[in-house]
Amino acid sequence: MRYNDDFYSNLLDGLHDGVYFVDLKRRIQYWNQGAERISGYDAGDVMGARCMDGILMHVDEKGVLLCTKRCPLKRAMEDGKPRSKGVYLLHSSGHRVPARISVSPIRDGKGQIVGGVETFHEDKERLDVLHRVRELESTAFLDPVCKVANRRQAEMVVDSTLREFKRYGWPFGLLFMDIDRFKRINDTNGHRVGDKVLRMVAKTLIGNIRPFDFVGRWGGEEFVATVKNVDETTLRSIAEKLRALVEHSAIRVGRKKVSVTLSIGATMVRSGDTFRSILDRADGLMYQCKENGRNRVIMG
Ligand code: GH3
Ligand code: MG
Ligand code: MG
Repeated sequence: MRYNDDFYSNLLDGLHDGVYFVDLKRRIQYWNQGAERISGYDAGDVMGARCMDGILMHVDEKGVLLCTKRCPLKRAMEDGKPRSKGVYLLHSSGHRVPARISVSPIRDGKGQIVGGVETFHEDKERLDVLHRVRELESTAFLDPVCKVANRRQAEMVVDSTLREFKRYGWPFGLLFMDIDRFKRINDTNGHRVGDKVLRMVAKTLIGNIRPFDFVGRWGGEEFVATVKNVDETTLRSIAEKLRALVEHSAIRVGRKKVSVTLSIGATMVRSGDTFRSILDRADGLMYQCKENGRNRVIMG
């Protein structure tokens, strides 16, 4: 049986995964419906563009941009070897999505490499956290602007996590996160853009914490997270990851990109801690970040 191009195109569109092809110059030549769904970009938006021209812009967990030096597609086209990697891709609405990508070279009939193919899917376990948010939507515990847990719920979670620590000795860390110079974002771009930036930050945070951890909006441009069952080193690396991912998230305003950074105070729970003492400590560390140049994590 012979199949025509439409057959293959329908087949690729029927896949749940995102699939795209690039030529040797890494210009996008094909973009399936899965890629449209996961990335938010239509095929018409991206055809002929290069993936590093603001589309996908994969970063690793340290926030290092992979497009320029460590592009997995470029490497696969150079050495002919397929590879796969966990990355964070840039959605068209600006937030970062945890994803698993696989790349392979494409060869012509003579075995010559003529391009590359990338397939990608959302990292299901991490996305479950996002889905949990939907369940919250109808309750009184959701922040209406950012669609994440509100202050009331955040207080309850900090309180119950602290109780668990006292009763069972389960350690946890607390992150107090404040957007840097957010007033300027409002002053320069208006309140509506400010709100969009808040939503972008919230989405990046909620999409990239572990499923059993918690992020809520504390108020204004402040967020808190509880990070369960960690030691100091892991807490630091999780805080650094969130900081880097927010730094590499952006929304588009006309032709301009708007992005922000976070100051993060990070602390492990201590015996004798109260609700107030652990929050005050994390908040104090966050202020130290402000005094030391912002866009950083300080542990204490
Ligand atoms: P710093 O780096 O020292 O944190 O500076 P900052 O400008 O972020 O801090 P400041 O506390 O001076 O300003 C916070 C701003 O956040 C002021 C307020 O207008 C803005 N803001 C608070 N809540 C919202 C909101 O829901 N939407 C928008 N658009 N802005 C908000
Ligand atoms: Mg603040
Ligand atoms: Mg601020």
